[in-house]
Amino acid sequence: MLAIRMLEARFGASAAVEVDAPVPGPRDVLVAVQAVGICGSDLHAVAWEDGYHFMADRLPVTLGHEFAGIVVRAGDAVADIAVGDRVTCWPTVGCADCEACSTGRPQDCQGRTVIGLSRDGAMAEQVVVPAANCFALADDLGSAVAALAEPLSVAVHAVNVAACRQGDRVVVLGPGPIGVAIAWVAQQRGCDVLLAGLDDDVRLAAASDCGIGSVADLSAVTLSEAVQGRFGAPVDCVIEATGAAQSVADGLAVTRSSGTVVVAGIHKQTLPLNLIDFVRAKKQLRAAHDTTRAAFSEAIGLLNRHGASLEGLITHRLPLARADEGFALLRRKEAMKVLLLPDQAAQGGSRACV
Ligand SMILES: [Zn+2]
Ligand SMILES: [Zn+2]
Repeated sequence: MLAIRMLEARFGASAAVEVDAPVPGPRDVLVAVQAVGICGSDLHAVAWEDGYHFMADRLPVTLGHEFAGIVVRAGDAVADIAVGDRVTCWPTVGCADCEACSTGRPQDCQGRTVIGLSRDGAMAEQVVVPAANCFALADDLGSAVAALAEPLSVAVHAVNVAACRQGDRVVVLGPGPIGVAIAWVAQQRGCDVLLAGLDDDVRLAAASDCGIGSVADLSAVTLSEAVQGRFGAPVDCVIEATGAAQSVADGLAVTRSSGTVVVAGIHKQTLPLNLIDFVRAKKQLRAAHDTTRAAFSEAIGLLNRHGASLEGLITHRLPLARADEGFALLRRKEAMKVLLLPDQAAQGGSRACV
């Protein structure tokens, strides 16, 4: 079968290659992938950036952790997922033995693997995943929209970490899919949200199309000018999804005393921090990464209820064999979410702005 694999530990060492179909173990299911999203972390991995070198001793590995498909085979010990079920999947796989795993926190397991980064993922016609990581889908939730469950669950978790409440003034930095999803979830919770991006007009426009009511282009104004213009006061909360360390400092500067800044981007640089100002202003600096089982369930519920508006995040659909085109579109910030469709391998694909 065709698979998009990271082959070696160096920049750009990904390729579409033929591999053997995987075989499920007793607690696994084999899923025929119907849709798989390209994530920013796939781009970071392919660029072999700092922060992804943990993959080195797992290579070659098939990419793809945001997906949905149909179960075509189930291991002998699988009881609650059956052949024919459509599923999506939380890609974090704990060791099942440690304290974190035994208390329902595989995201904190130090021996965890991640489907599509440190074990074979779903940019392939088929993928093997533990049945325990699967979530069955309602019949009327399409697989393309269901492939948004993972990034949406990351956003739900980031908003949970921020603990922002109805009426809070919230700034979200970074209009990529995670940033837009964070802004969307915060809006759903009744927050007053401003989404800001830098030289990102295509994605800010797409965010507006998805229902984000207030956006700012920081190539025209500073963040503090944008916040002053929109709210007239420092904000209760900033959630950062840019990956640029300066944005954390900029976010702290526009946060009120005792307000909260959540770092959700993956950062290559370190952050110089004036600890006197930071402590006296009593600002809360938190980190959000991955998700939780509860946030994943909540994300699927949001897709069941609001799939039509969240489908607007999907700007491009391409056959699996054209993954490179999807990577290039995202690097140029010309796409929001690119879905790869393995069953369109022989077709031309389609571009849909919905
Ligand atoms: Zn992702
Ligand atoms: Zn564990």
